[in-house]
Amino acid sequence: MALMTGQEYMESLNDGREVYIDGEKIQNIAEHPSLRPIIEAKARMYDMNHEEKYKNICTVDTSDGTICRGYKMPETKADLKAIRKYVETVLDDLGGVVYRVGDETIGEMWSLYDAQESLNEIDPTYTENIKNHIERISRLDLFHVSANTDPKGDRSKLFAGKAGSDTNLLHVVEENDRGIVVSGAKFETAAAYAHQAFVKPTISNWTDESMLPYASGFICDMGSPGLKHICRTSHGRNQNPIDYPISTQFDEIDTLLIFDKVLIPWENVLFHNNLKSVQFIRKTVHRYSAFNYVIRLLRRADLLLGTAVLNAEQTGLTKIPAVQEKITKLICYRESINAHLTAAVSEAEESSGGLLMPNQSLLYTGRIQAISNFNDMLHLTRELVGGQLAVTPDSMTIQHPEVKEYIDKYYSLAGWDAEDRTKLLFFARDLLNSSRGGHQTTFELFAQGPPFTQYQAAFNNFDLEPSRQMVRKAANIFSEKAELQV
Ligand SMILES: Cc1cc2nc3c(=O)[nH]c(=O)nc-3n(C[C@H](O)[C@H](O)[C@H](O)COP(=O)(O)OP(=O)(O)OC[C@H]3O[C@@H](n4cnc5c(N)ncnc54)[C@H](O)[C@@H]3O)c2cc1C
Repeated sequence: MALMTGQEYMESLNDGREVYIDGEKIQNIAEHPSLRPIIEAKARMYDMNHEEKYKNICTVDTSDGTICRGYKMPETKADLKAIRKYVETVLDDLGGVVYRVGDETIGEMWSLYDAQESLNEIDPTYTENIKNHIERISRLDLFHVSANTDPKGDRSKLFAGKAGSDTNLLHVVEENDRGIVVSGAKFETAAAYAHQAFVKPTISNWTDESMLPYASGFICDMGSPGLKHICRTSHGRNQNPIDYPISTQFDEIDTLLIFDKVLIPWENVLFHNNLKSVQFIRKTVHRYSAFNYVIRLLRRADLLLGTAVLNAEQTGLTKIPAVQEKITKLICYRESINAHLTAAVSEAEESSGGLLMPNQSLLYTGRIQAISNFNDMLHLTRELVGGQLAVTPDSMTIQHPEVKEYIDKYYSLAGWDAEDRTKLLFFARDLLNSSRGGHQTTFELFAQGPPFTQYQAAFNNFDLEPSRQMVRKAANIFSEKAELQV
């Protein structure tokens, strides 16, 4: 067992991977100004595991040695509580909310672990690989991310069962004694600075036999020959950190990952040419990772609430009952996420693989409640911060010796000096109005699948029978025809 340090993590990225960003092909990605801030945030997470004050929260002793807490599969409620504590501690230490930093994505492998028996029945060839990889990630302390989404192309063709060589979907082009060779593409946040990804088929119609060539899942090392990382630019690059404190530290770079005949060794193949496996995976993939994701949404709610409250306090508005009411809406939003997370642990369920899952219905409905109300809460925070959010001049200009006295006059209030007042407004602007703020809202809309898949997950995990029974009894309906066909 070897817990990596931040420095070791940064050096490990120098493995010859092919990365393109800002119009250039880059060499040492940890040094690149668009990628460096988020790589430093991940490096900080690795370093936290070695610090005395965090050791008990960020790491755990297992029979195989000490591993990162985020990589320990949950077997008890105490494990789930410890995961929550770990994620909250990391985000609080970083001072911002990051999503795709390893602990959220690892849960997808635990879903596969649960699926072993079913996958074994379908095809026993690969189940040993799943166990080996789960063990390998924690043993080598790897940064593991998730690749689901292909640039899907013309869906009318795919759904009509005409998927052929013209499709964009990632597929196997060759099988040989070393492994499978795949071509295609995936969108993947953090791929350029991660070690490996669990690559799997995207949301589609996986009952259609013509989809068989696309029905494979595997682990891909992010430095594999034939892999090209085409990154979007950073929202924080060339920005002043005082004006854009979030964009310049926490922008998680997304990648269009091209697989140009990439060899995936057999030991990395987790399922292959198998529609049933895909159906199973697509149904269960977020049963653990949604927990870590919703913890992030809780911290995002905290940021909205804290920003609104500090501003209302600065401007003396907290004394007005109507403003208190608006703040209370943010409190209710925050607490409803908290309640779903807390209840999901206290009502946790045993999985088919013998692990302990957060209560699935409470977790998925919590995810929907957090995401579907997010825009309203964002807008309410905007409203509470007021128009200065948008009209405040930048940090360089307000320091100009000929204007500073006016800034001091008009931005100092109620025990707050102009420097702190403008810092709060810059933070609020980056949280709510900047290009990175908009990007983040889009990420939250689509992370772990678009809204319709999240509603499906909640529908599939809620037991409708008690409600049916209650109404049957109340309305005196005992006919067989009253059975709901789902
Ligand atoms: C910032 C960001 C980061 C991302 N990071 C990752 C990542 O790390 N890994 C990853 O795998 N993916 C990632 N994604 C991709 C994300 O998961 C997809 O965008 C999402 O799954 C939707 O797929 P799509 O964009 O192809 O939209 P489409 O499939 O084209 O769907 C667009 C819309 O059409 C409607 N729609 C489509 N099909 C149906 C249907 N069957 N029923 C009802 N409505 C339907 C919905 O309104 C849907 O939102 C990221 C996306 C964003 C924005």
